[in-house]
Amino acid sequence: MTNAKQPLALVAGGAGFIGSHLCAALLDRGFSVLCLDNLQTSRPVNVENLARHQGFHFIKADITAPLPRTVLDRSDAITRIYNLACAASPPQYQADPEHTMLTNVLGTDRLLRLAERSGARFLLTSTSEVYGDPETHPQKEDYRGWVNCTGPRACYDEGKRAAEAMSFDFARLGRADVRVARIFNTYGPHMHPDDGRVVSNLICQALSGRDITIYGDGSQTRSFCYVSDMVDGLIRLMETDGLPSAPINLGNPEEYSVNELLEQILGLVETSGETVYRPLPVDDPRRRRPDIASARRWLGWAPQVPLADGLASTCDWFAAELGCSGLAASGAGARRTMPLAAVR
Ligand code: UDP
Repeated sequence: MTNAKQPLALVAGGAGFIGSHLCAALLDRGFSVLCLDNLQTSRPVNVENLARHQGFHFIKADITAPLPRTVLDRSDAITRIYNLACAASPPQYQADPEHTMLTNVLGTDRLLRLAERSGARFLLTSTSEVYGDPETHPQKEDYRGWVNCTGPRACYDEGKRAAEAMSFDFARLGRADVRVARIFNTYGPHMHPDDGRVVSNLICQALSGRDITIYGDGSQTRSFCYVSDMVDGLIRLMETDGLPSAPINLGNPEEYSVNELLEQILGLVETSGETVYRPLPVDDPRRRRPDIASARRWLGWAPQVPLADGLASTCDWFAAELGCSGLAASGAGARRTMPLAAVR
């Protein structure tokens, strides 16, 4: 008997920053997409252009509540489940910490049970936050982390750690075919201008001539991955057979201090904004850089978009979004290498 299943992917958090790009990429690859989102931190405009696809269906739902009938009725047809549902920027996930924890624990459980029931492959987007303020550098997947389980970031860090534990239990017990991506800092179009993350804050502040906020002295580091690279990594992780049952880091291994990031942005955006220094948030990790040997080996994946190009595209997009001018002549508008159309 032939397998009559057409590929149907459920993307929880599909209207969010990474989720919306993932939905577009899946449609391009011939999947139909059920996009589930509670619109807590995401915006319908992110998926507006996808609505014209026959195969795209948006359902407003929160995965902490029982899954909607429209999803359960189609469970036999679902072949892939991507779980990206969770507020991901520190101010947003700390705004309702109980909901953040429940999204990761209860929500992931509901989606894992759906995977069990449907036989769909399941991918959890976990996070570099499971490493906390890391004592080893760069971070490999076998590093177990240095997380403060009672601090303000714990709802997210520990929520994701619990979600990972549950995912691997489902895998160990043969209840679902599971993959776990540990996503490092990612940036690009569709970031929420007010989400409080460093890339969106610095670009939007520079574009609108407001004070540019550096927390601490700006020497802390992060590694920034452009969203198209991240989506490519997620799809490879989902579609690759014969993987070890272990999490895989996805991120760009090039590391920059926050000051260096600002310098690059100021090369792209002319601004009257002043740089101001603010206190470092509690438990803010000093440094973060993924070891991506595992992704290279198992997925044949490595980021392709250099920070300068990704920032140029992102500045372009935010400038259009905010209705701002201010892109330096030698900057974003002149250097953009990726057509915005490809970004959707
Ligand atoms: N950060 C900053 N200014 C901002 C927002 C963030 O200096 O306006 C710092 C923040 O303290 C952290 C880094 O930039 O050290 C990355 O912050 P983000 O919230 O983007 O991500 P995460 O801390 O989760 O990696």
